[in-house]
Amino acid sequence: MITHEILKSKYLGCMLGAAIGDALGKQNEGLKRHDILKRDYVTDYGKSPQGCPGEHLKPGEYTDDTEQMLLLAMSLVECNGFNSDYFAKRLARWGEDTMKDPLRKNLIGPSSSAAIKKLNSGAGWREAGSDIPSCGSAMRVAPIGLFYDALDEVEEKAALSSLPTHKSNAAIAGAVAVAVAVRCAVSGMDCNGIINEASIRASKYDIDIGEKIGSSYMKRDSEPDDAFGWLGTSYLVNETVPSAFYCFSRHSGNPEKAITEAVNAGGDTDSIACITGALSGAVHGALALPDRWVRGLLNRETVERVAEMVFVKAEKERL
Ligand SMILES: [Mg+2]
Repeated sequence: MITHEILKSKYLGCMLGAAIGDALGKQNEGLKRHDILKRDYVTDYGKSPQGCPGEHLKPGEYTDDTEQMLLLAMSLVECNGFNSDYFAKRLARWGEDTMKDPLRKNLIGPSSSAAIKKLNSGAGWREAGSDIPSCGSAMRVAPIGLFYDALDEVEEKAALSSLPTHKSNAAIAGAVAVAVAVRCAVSGMDCNGIINEASIRASKYDIDIGEKIGSSYMKRDSEPDDAFGWLGTSYLVNETVPSAFYCFSRHSGNPEKAITEAVNAGGDTDSIACITGALSGAVHGALALPDRWVRGLLNRETVERVAEMVFVKAEKERL
C-alpha cells in the first residue's frame, strides 16, 4: 500500500532525481561515449569541461532542464493545473533572462531559444513552437505526471505543455511518454507496466518513438555500448527519451546505477540523466537516492520546496 509518506517521498524523489541527473549529466553534455569512457567515468559532481554548455556552472549546479521543470511545476501550483498562456509567459520571461546571462545563455537548446524569441516578439503559444523534434519538452515534463492522477489527463496536459516550444509530433510523443511514466511510477506500477503504458500513449503521436520506448525495455540486458549505439543519444527526442527508458529499465532496482548509466551515455547526457532520474526517483522515492548526491545538489531546498508544493496542491485537487 502506498501511504501518504511514501507518496510524498515519490514526489520528492522524482524532482530531486531529475535535478541530480541533470547536475551530474552536464559534465558530459555533448561528449561522445568513447571519449567519456577514455576520461573519468562520472559518478560525482564536478565542473563541465571547457566548451560544454555548462562550462560556467558550479559542481552540483543543475542546468536549463531542471530550471524549466521547476518553472512548469510552479505554474501548476499557481494556476491549480496546467494553463498554456501562463506557462508560455513564464517560460518567455525565464528564457529572456537566461539568454541575457553570459554564464547561462549557452544552456538553452536551439528549439527552445527560437520559440522563446518568438514568444517574446508577441507570438502566441500555438504558433511559437519549433518543428525541430528535440527533447526540450520531455526533459521538463515530470511535474505533469505528479500533479494529475488520471492517465488521460496526464497525456492531454503533457501534450499541451510541449506546444509553446516544441510542436512536432515526435516531441509531443516524448513529453507524453515521460509524464505518463512518472504517473505510473508514482502509482506503484512495475517497470514493465510503466514502459508498456508510456509506449502505447507515445505511439498515438509518433509510432517510431512508441516502438523505441518499448524496445528499450526489451534491450535492458544488452550492453550499454550496443544499446546506446542502437537507440542513439543525441538531443533528438527519439533518441534521448528511449535511451533514458533503457537506463531506467536496465537498473530498475537501483537509482544510483540507472542515473550513472545515463550520465555516461554520451550525447545529451544532462537530459537523458534528468529523465532517468525523474523515473527512478518516482519509483523508489527520495530516500533511495545516494545521500552524497542529495547533499551536494546546489539549490536542493528549492527543488524540495517546489516538489512539496506540487504534492500539497495535487492532494487538495484530489479532494
Ligand atoms: Mg541542459
